[in-house]
Amino acid sequence: MDAASTELAIGVDVGATKIAAALVARDGELVDSDQLLTRPERGSAAVLDDVARLVGPWLDRGGGAIRGIGVGTPGQVNSAAGTVHNAVNLGWDEVPLVAELQDRLMEEAPVWVQKDANASALGELVFGAARGYDDFVYVGVGSGLGGGVVAGGRLLTGADWNAAELGHLSLDPAGRLCPCGNRGCAETVVSGPGLVALARRYAVEGRYRSALGPELSDDLTAEQIVEHAAAGDELALAALAEVGKWLGIVLAACVAILNPALFVVGGGLGLAAFDFLVPHARAELARRTLAGSHQDLEIVPSQVASSAVGAASLVWYFDRERGAENN
Ligand SMILES: [Zn+2]
Repeated sequence: MDAASTELAIGVDVGATKIAAALVARDGELVDSDQLLTRPERGSAAVLDDVARLVGPWLDRGGGAIRGIGVGTPGQVNSAAGTVHNAVNLGWDEVPLVAELQDRLMEEAPVWVQKDANASALGELVFGAARGYDDFVYVGVGSGLGGGVVAGGRLLTGADWNAAELGHLSLDPAGRLCPCGNRGCAETVVSGPGLVALARRYAVEGRYRSALGPELSDDLTAEQIVEHAAAGDELALAALAEVGKWLGIVLAACVAILNPALFVVGGGLGLAAFDFLVPHARAELARRTLAGSHQDLEIVPSQVASSAVGAASLVWYFDRERGAENN
């Protein structure tokens, strides 16, 4: 084996529900994986102990082959300082994640941290659907709506590490209250909970013939709505069309500012409902942007299998960035 083929990176996604870790080859191939429940109520120290417990054995066995550790977290992530701020789902105000992990691991391998959606974007750039693209936007539609922007080949992080907060672009200031405190944020519609809320409203209004009657069960999920849509249910199709339209408005804002060549759509709902959402998003995009800025634009599903694999891409991305700075 040549040197490049034995190089490995570790990726860790710290989510509100689980900590997922992956050992990943240079080409993105998954070599090993493991996970633990996050149980964030224990506090950040216990969560970071668990991260160290997950990756420690790989570092011990991998020796010099492991080039670094990439970590994705929610919140506002200052990747230069290695700190995470305001990660509401984890209950973290301010956590010096890189320093804390390096203390626990006592390793030479560098540790990088990024906002989770940025880690997914870099995963697509390094391993996935955006390989070879310098200008693209990653859009993750799941429990919320996350975004990551690569412009001119570099991740765009903004003045205060708040760039690409696509989910909190308010599209309807009179709309539903968002957990952030504003109204009508894009993710109040473009997300799993947004889709469920919309389907409930349509069911109560009784506008559509549907197997989803006004007596919708309390535990209705976005996945079930997508299944009904696949079976031709009018209400489910209409709800997904509306979500697709809102997604198109978000994409139009990205097109006007960034002129990307590609959108990569990921996240649980983004992938499961890709074929239902994207035609409506594309039509809305065409209504709202200059023809020249969207005609050749591609919209494709994400290819990176897991957020932990995406996080491993930070190692290769920052390796390259550091190399560029030193030259
Ligand atoms: Zn919001």
